[in-house]
Amino acid sequence: MKPAAPVAIVAAMHEELRALLDAMPDERRVVRGGRAFYAGHLEGREVVAVLSGIGKVAAATTATLAIEAFGAGAVLFTGVAGGVGEGVRVGDVVVADALLQHDMDASPLFPRYEVPLTGRAAFPADAAMSGRLAAAAAAVLADAGELIGREHLAPFGIEAPRLHRGLVASGDRFVSGAAESRALCAALAQAGHLPLAVEMEGAALAQVCHDFGVPFAVLRTISDRADDSAHVDFLAFIREVASRYAAAIVRRFVAATGG
Ligand code: SAH
Repeated sequence: MKPAAPVAIVAAMHEELRALLDAMPDERRVVRGGRAFYAGHLEGREVVAVLSGIGKVAAATTATLAIEAFGAGAVLFTGVAGGVGEGVRVGDVVVADALLQHDMDASPLFPRYEVPLTGRAAFPADAAMSGRLAAAAAAVLADAGELIGREHLAPFGIEAPRLHRGLVASGDRFVSGAAESRALCAALAQAGHLPLAVEMEGAALAQVCHDFGVPFAVLRTISDRADDSAHVDFLAFIREVASRYAAAIVRRFVAATGG
């Protein structure tokens, strides 16, 4: 990462961005491409915070602008996701090692899931950045009762949240059915891909960062199990749990980032 360049912090949800802005003392609001970027400081480190919106296109334009218009030297994405891996439960956190688009299919011209002309399906996250992010997440989860507040975790049945690292699958679809989730995972498994979580932005951001040669990492709090009850309490979970996790983890991560 270029040491003098700001870290872009891309949030998928308004509530998550809000929690970060509350911790930024001097942010300057600049609108580009219809989205508001907040350039300033977090934990004494230069950052630019922005709401990506939902879906792959929104994530791609946001990442492009963060890099090209705001000179971001690294991109951190924070959001929620549906847990599909075994033992990936609501309230757990996933740090992506790699991301792929589960709705990319140019077969038979290219293997299913491969992004045409790139020769790859999965885009690896930056190892050093993801390592720092995982360390920050582990520290927050180990003390979640104190740092987040037991009263916020208990209503969602969260007792001992865990950190997972692995593949995250993105697509322009809110996966909200057990049968749908099973079919998606079975098809991915056939191609050798075993995702821990599904969401709607990460792999697009990964592809953009890869194209620009900018390191990135993706943090996802598990909000649902991508099953028939995926929509239940979704917004309450983001407000009560995910936004608090995100703020605590991102602040710790940024504080540990040099420059
Ligand atoms: N009802 C919500 C819609 C959110 S869409 C609203 O009104 O704001 C879901 C968002 O959460 C996306 O940003 C996606 O990345 C993530 N997400 C969480 N669970 C998901 C799931 N089961 N499938 C796909 N995306 C999911």
